[in-house]
Amino acid sequence: MDLVLRVARAPEAGETVMAESLHHLPGGKGGNQAVACARLGGEVQLFGRLGNDGHGQALRAALQSDGIDVIGVQTDAQAPTGVATILVDDAAQNRIVVAAGANGRFALDAPALSLALSQADCLVAQLEVPLAEVLAAARLAQAAGCRVLLNPSPVQALPEAIWSLVDTLVVNETEAAALGGGEVGTLAEAALAAQKLLGRGPARVVVTLGAAGAVAADSAGCRHHPGMAVQAVDTTAAGDTFMGALAVALGQGQSLDAAVQRGIRAAALCVTRAGAQPSIPTAAEVDASPLPSPWSPL
Ligand code: AMP
Repeated sequence: MDLVLRVARAPEAGETVMAESLHHLPGGKGGNQAVACARLGGEVQLFGRLGNDGHGQALRAALQSDGIDVIGVQTDAQAPTGVATILVDDAAQNRIVVAAGANGRFALDAPALSLALSQADCLVAQLEVPLAEVLAAARLAQAAGCRVLLNPSPVQALPEAIWSLVDTLVVNETEAAALGGGEVGTLAEAALAAQKLLGRGPARVVVTLGAAGAVAADSAGCRHHPGMAVQAVDTTAAGDTFMGALAVALGQGQSLDAAVQRGIRAAALCVTRAGAQPSIPTAAEVDASPLPSPWSPL
């Protein structure tokens, strides 16, 4: 559950500032990406863990209202539902602190996941559940012939074994650097980072660059996909929206570049609206939005 606080500016250490508003909005990387997949045309089953509390009930209901199958979402008798405190300032920049809560105690139900994977095109994973469970899920996905898309966020060191299980790695600039891609400030650095990460095992790597769009890399080389010029209000869930749009497009058999374009278009709509899940667009909204600029080789 996101606790979204609008502030003129974020406080310095030792300082207190008054928020202009407080909203409780459904969020969480897994939840957001599931909602993005569902709104953009995917059929989604979510695996995760909620607390036995009001936040958990509200989140479950929100996911169900988007048509997501929540049979794999466990309820923890002890730990509370995970919470993210999100400060959004006047420059639309956000600063986030996450308490994983029940998600930190997520334990895979292997038979249930294997059953879901046997009917799925892809597994989309993030790191708000324990890494060991993500690795186990990726192994089951590979055994089921299911493509693995990994968004290693919040970023942490990845076990060597996971790299070769990942088909498509999606990282932002910070994550690319933390995973050994080197500092990403320029397009050339983003391309270099994507190439380095590609060398670790994934078939494709996408480095997202905020307003500057994204770099896509595969065996054919690196391409820059420019971002769309929009009035950003709140960038929360932009990366999750991108990830969901990319996953659905790849699942529909589209090329990596077409899938990245879809992600950029969907994320551009997301940043023009407040909140995480409330800001994620539907396929019809994306279809009606302007087309992004063409990509160029790097
Ligand atoms: P990020 O996680 O910040 O790299 O953002 C993910 C994706 O959201 C980017 O690849 C862009 O397509 C889109 N995006 C993020 N911020 C903006 C922005 N200010 N304007 C337009 N698109 C954005």
